[in-house]
Amino acid sequence: MNVVTRFAPSPTWYLHVWWLRTCLYNYLYAKNTGGKFMLRIEDTDRSRYVEWAIENMVEMLTKLWLNIDEGPNNPWNAWPYLQSERLDIYKKYVQKLLDEDKAYYCFCSSDRLDKLRKEQEQLSLPTKYDKKCRYLSEDEIKEKLEAGEPYTIRLKVPENQIVKFKDTVKWKIEINTKDIDEQVLMKTDGFPTYHLANVVDDHLMEITHVIRWEEWVPSTPKHILLYGAFGWEAPEFVHLPLLLWMDKKKLSKRQWDVAVEKYIEKGYLVDALINYMAFLGWNPKSTEEIFSMDELIANFKLENLNKSGAVFDVEKLNWYNSKYLVAWDINDIYEKFMAWAEIYDNNFYKNTLLKADNEYNKSVLLELKTKIKKFDEFKEQTTFFYSDDIKVDTDIMLNEKMKITNMEIVKNGLNLTLNTLKNLEWEIESIDQIKTIFIEAIKEAWMKNWQVLWPVRVALTWEKFSPWALEMMYILGKDKSINRLETLMENL
Ligand code: GLU
Repeated sequence: MNVVTRFAPSPTWYLHVWWLRTCLYNYLYAKNTGGKFMLRIEDTDRSRYVEWAIENMVEMLTKLWLNIDEGPNNPWNAWPYLQSERLDIYKKYVQKLLDEDKAYYCFCSSDRLDKLRKEQEQLSLPTKYDKKCRYLSEDEIKEKLEAGEPYTIRLKVPENQIVKFKDTVKWKIEINTKDIDEQVLMKTDGFPTYHLANVVDDHLMEITHVIRWEEWVPSTPKHILLYGAFGWEAPEFVHLPLLLWMDKKKLSKRQWDVAVEKYIEKGYLVDALINYMAFLGWNPKSTEEIFSMDELIANFKLENLNKSGAVFDVEKLNWYNSKYLVAWDINDIYEKFMAWAEIYDNNFYKNTLLKADNEYNKSVLLELKTKIKKFDEFKEQTTFFYSDDIKVDTDIMLNEKMKITNMEIVKNGLNLTLNTLKNLEWEIESIDQIKTIFIEAIKEAWMKNWQVLWPVRVALTWEKFSPWALEMMYILGKDKSINRLETLMENL
């Protein structure tokens, strides 16, 4: 069997994390089996339609390297991949059901349906359509149609039959048709409902595996009835377990927090994000946690999907991202960082990063990559690398614990550093080299390491929490370090 999976979002918002997980698993399964991964846009609910959402969705999938084999931007067949452009197809299929007496016109107004629902709720009965129009005579139907009465089309659910299905993950459902609502297939606006469009498209597009969120489990018996009405074989259903936010609440309760774009904007590496998302509902049955996309593809098996829900935890995502930042080669990270900065912090990119040279930026990033969790922390933690405006607070140079009790000690330390740097004949070559030179010089001056290196660190970075003095000197270089120390001495 040639596997065909699809990601079928409704364009109602940004791509959010639970869609990303669904999309990723569809992608991984198709790639693992050498099958095809399709994008179909389910935009039949016009009241929730958001115009920019489709473009945004496609753009995000491209950024995440989830390459679509077939979809709106790379059609394979002549047909459209947007459901709103497939209305003729649904009309044809619903007509077939009408002709075969498997569906019927329903002329009930929304007022009547509301009233019915309220009555059922008051009596604690399941809310369903009472089948009033199912038994209209042909003449009655004809008359109403000729009078232009608005109508929907409903599925005729066979009486007293058992609908069964077993999905790949854990669901085993058996339900009597008397408990299934006679669902609307076509709405009064001529648009199909989700159920009809979804089933018709999955069949026509030859989808073999429907991998979707657990939320759709209650709809699946309806879909199975529809496949039966058309005489089609249903695909395999794979329902992914719940995904909750850190506070154990539903993700839909969070707004911007769940938009994938937010994580890209904050500068998480796509590889780390994908790696983390893959583990929110699947596990490789080993203790290994770091997987590249290729490794995910190679290892992804439906039988390893988790049965219980998962929690989206930003701390764990940070952990993944840090792992990648530490492990990756600096040149690769630098390339990703610059590409990120150009888009998401263009001012900083143009006015600071491009003005400094690549090697300098790279050495700053090398120093920082084990300390930051994501790219958007870079700017804040590196002001002192890119600006020479001394803002030093001399108070933090004094430090009881380090026995730096007066400004004389501070000045001695800074002077010693200045002299040592000025006597260096070459540029600083490595941290080890300058370490040896400084340890020697400090010893000769009968001072303590701290007494010199602490004030120097503060002088070069204006912060208590920053890279160490020797690392700073190495990155800044001899001239810049001398310059900063001299300016500071003048201001002390
Ligand atoms: N349009 C549905 C959604 O956005 C897709 C459900 C399905 O995959 O069948 O959740």
